[in-house]
Formats: sequence, C-alpha cells, structure tokens
Amino acid sequence: MNLPITKIPTKTLSKPSKKLTKEELLDSKMQKFIKDMIPTMYEESGIGLAAPQVALNVQLCVVGKEASPHLKKDLVLVNPTFEVLSKKKEVDTEGCLSVPGTFGKVKRFNHIHVKAWDEKGKELDFEAKNFFARVIQHEYDHLQGTLIIDKAKDMYSKDAETAEKFLKDFEKYKN
Ligand code: ZN
Repeated sequence: MNLPITKIPTKTLSKPSKKLTKEELLDSKMQKFIKDMIPTMYEESGIGLAAPQVALNVQLCVVGKEASPHLKKDLVLVNPTFEVLSKKKEVDTEGCLSVPGTFGKVKRFNHIHVKAWDEKGKELDFEAKNFFARVIQHEYDHLQGTLIIDKAKDMYSKDAETAEKFLKDFEKYKN
C-alpha cells in the first residue's frame, strides 16, 4: 500500500521525531509501515523517504539501493546517527518529496560514518561517501525536523505555478 506524502506547510515536518525502542520497531504495525514506505518511495520517484514524510514522527527512514553502487538492497535506518569523517563539504542540488517541484543547493559532508538499526533492530555500522552520504544526511535532517528549505541556497521551482504555490506554503510553514 502506498502512503500519502506529508508536504509543506504541514507543521509536523518541523518537529523532531521520537526514537524507536526495539519493541516499538518490532511491532507488527510498524513492520507493515516500513514495508509500505519502500514502494511509496519508488512510486514517488524518491531516493529516500523519512517517516515524518508519511505522517509518523519516529526516527526511521528508508534509502533506495540506487543511492550507492555498494548497496544490494534498499536500506532501512532506525534511530540513525552519524559522525563526520572528513570536514570537506560539497554543494549539490537537492529536491524533497515534501517540497514538490522546488529545488535548492545544499552543502553536505561527503564522508560520514553511520550507525543505526535495520528494520529488525540489527546494528548497522558503515561508512557513506558522496551521493550516498548526501541522501543519508537529507533523511537524517527530516528526523530532526529540518527540511532543505531551512538550509538550501538558490532555491528555484520547476515552473511559475509551482513557485507561487511554494512561496505561499513556505510562508505558512515558517509562521
Ligand atoms: Zn526530503
């Protein structure tokens, strides 16, 4: 089942999400929710999706396997944290399913060390570089209540109508 995407100006997007306990994670409703997040991400042509983008403020996100050539399957990250391995940052254009049709340049660390649980609560511990590191930082931000509109530069929309809607929604979201 595909889940509806939460978009700006919905205020819950700016709310920090709650960490999951193992018990909450292994609950059958949560397991079903995770199973639904992956096809939702693909349906919406996203490379990642965080739980608050599908109306649940918990620290859980999915990352599509195309995010890194080293990935064999889509990743589920529960309660993710990361350490910066290189201070070097890179700027690239990002979009977000919660901010449809609008893009901006975001600076991200390009080498990080990630710790999280997978969907079964197994510990994950890995390094991520470049685009993969970018996607994880974008999803991590969602879990803290941060969107690209909070940090992007040179935002632009795909057309005038989208730009007009974006400005209205942005105004409502921020106030
Ligand atoms: Zn996003």
